[in-house]
Amino acid sequence: MTQRYADLAFDDRMARVDFRVATNAHIVVDTDVCRSCTTKACVHACPANLFVPTDDGGILFNYEQCFECGTCYLVCDGGNAISWSYPDGGQGVVFRHG
Ligand code: SF4
Ligand code: SF4
Repeated sequence: MTQRYADLAFDDRMARVDFRVATNAHIVVDTDVCRSCTTKACVHACPANLFVPTDDGGILFNYEQCFECGTCYLVCDGGNAISWSYPDGGQGVVFRHG
């Protein structure tokens, strides 16, 4: 019997995800802009917790294990703080079946 994706527990879903880290980051954050951002919306919105506030008011960002969901790009209050380009084929997040 085929198992429905919706019936899988979170850990089982994550076990079906590969992260193939591309050499070039598909998301680049201009952390100079982040320093004057008052909401830090990305910190709360990123489901992978990849935006980490620093003690000096800035942001530390790591593109590895990014789900490529685009949430940070949508909620960012900093104008052009986030630059986005999809990874090359075979890189980034890959969902495996079975
Ligand atoms: S695309 Fe999604 S997972 Fe990746 S950094 Fe942005 S919010 Fe986080
Ligand atoms: S919301 Fe945008 S500008 Fe603000 S901290 Fe996050 S990435 Fe930087």
